[in-house]
Amino acid sequence: MGAVANDNNPVLPSKGKKRTWIYAKKPAGKFYNYRQWVGYGLLLFLFLGPFIRINGNPFMMFNIVERKFSIFGNIFYPQDLHIFVFGMLIVMVCIVLFTAVFGRVWCGWTCPQTIFMELIFRRIEYLIEGDWMQQRKLNEGPNTDAKAWKKLLKHSIFLLISFAISNIFLAYIIGSDALFKIMTDPLEQHIGGFISLVVFTLVFYGVFAYVREIVCTTICPYGRLQGVLLDEQSMTVAYNEKRGEPRGKLRKGETDNDKGDCIDCNLCVQVCPTGIDIRNGIQMECVSCTACIDACDAVMEKIHKPKRLIGFYTLGEIEGKGEFKKNKTRQTIYIVILAFLIGVFGYMIFSRSEIGGSLLRATGSTYQMREDGTVSNLYALELINKSGREIDFELVPEDSNLQIQLVNNIHTLAKDGSAKLSFFLIGKRENVKTYKTKVRVNVVSDGKIVEKLKTTFIAPPGS
Ligand code: SF4
Ligand code: SF4
Repeated sequence: MGAVANDNNPVLPSKGKKRTWIYAKKPAGKFYNYRQWVGYGLLLFLFLGPFIRINGNPFMMFNIVERKFSIFGNIFYPQDLHIFVFGMLIVMVCIVLFTAVFGRVWCGWTCPQTIFMELIFRRIEYLIEGDWMQQRKLNEGPNTDAKAWKKLLKHSIFLLISFAISNIFLAYIIGSDALFKIMTDPLEQHIGGFISLVVFTLVFYGVFAYVREIVCTTICPYGRLQGVLLDEQSMTVAYNEKRGEPRGKLRKGETDNDKGDCIDCNLCVQVCPTGIDIRNGIQMECVSCTACIDACDAVMEKIHKPKRLIGFYTLGEIEGKGEFKKNKTRQTIYIVILAFLIGVFGYMIFSRSEIGGSLLRATGSTYQMREDGTVSNLYALELINKSGREIDFELVPEDSNLQIQLVNNIHTLAKDGSAKLSFFLIGKRENVKTYKTKVRVNVVSDGKIVEKLKTTFIAPPGS
């Protein structure tokens, strides 16, 4: 695993040399077209996520500062930590299972780093500086006015897009309303927010203008995990060595010879955004972008050979383990597990109670005997409104022998609001059987129980 240094190849880094800048040839083909559809769809989702409102809440928001998250318009607070942790676990399991089945497709097709790099920044570069050969010529050529203008234009656009991305990024973290305030209020009121925007802009600009494929090949931990996540059944972009070798240039007039199907045209290497030669075997640097499949398919079409000399194969197939049969059972099981986990997560999100609460007996308090023969306990209750609208409620003890007496008469929670209440639970002493009784208080809204709160009621037994 690992890109092989190659002194003869214009794209690959040579041994002992510093980083070799990768000039990737403009990709084209069926997979690239699909990738554009997927990528632009995801970009639209990413850009609109914090601005679309559902019940007045952002469609997506991960406000770490206020510990408030919004997923599909459902607001989550620290009390919902279990759902969030479960969601994170599902994401991790999904990544592991998905990678085991489909290899590194996430990287080449859906990762924001690849989408921004390949579908936005690199396309702008092609537009201003031309395809890979022109770009190299420009960079290695003399410093002229035309070169300076091209570089100035490209980097100005890169900075502008990085600024737009940093705004979106901040909108995900602090919410679009807070971002809007940073943009419209006087600067001195939001120095922190402004500095964040500048820092994020410079980071994104640095990543997309200079760091580029190093994020995928060296920095990202997911890429480095491939070795343990892939097995013989994993699908991955690979070169069919048995069919392609021995490779050799196609001479004029040559039709049939002892050579394999690879005509050593190097196109698969030239289009590779991470600068590897897929013919050297499966490599950690391959992000499964499928650009080399498109390039090689076009070549095979021209020389009238079957397509997919480079294609999606399982590791077992490539390693030539005899008549390697694809085991669909494992993939099916993984997909069923994934669907189940996603279903459970969806259920947890959409069945979440509209009001969250924590109920405790008032600190340091004990039971109080009353003159009318009843006994009472004092409680402190904190309620939080997660419904995205103003909500009326009442507290109802599940045990009909108990009654509630509110200390502060609160029956409404504002949108996204919370309230601290105190109340007495009162019961007849003759009904008390044990010193400590488990009791439940329901929060009822519109005739529906929206939250069940457990606590204990203490009193000396009545007989
Ligand atoms: S594009 Fe296909 S034919 Fe050309 S070098 Fe690559 S594998 Fe060989
Ligand atoms: S080897 Fe092919 S699939 Fe892998 S990164 Fe390079 S072009 Fe993309």
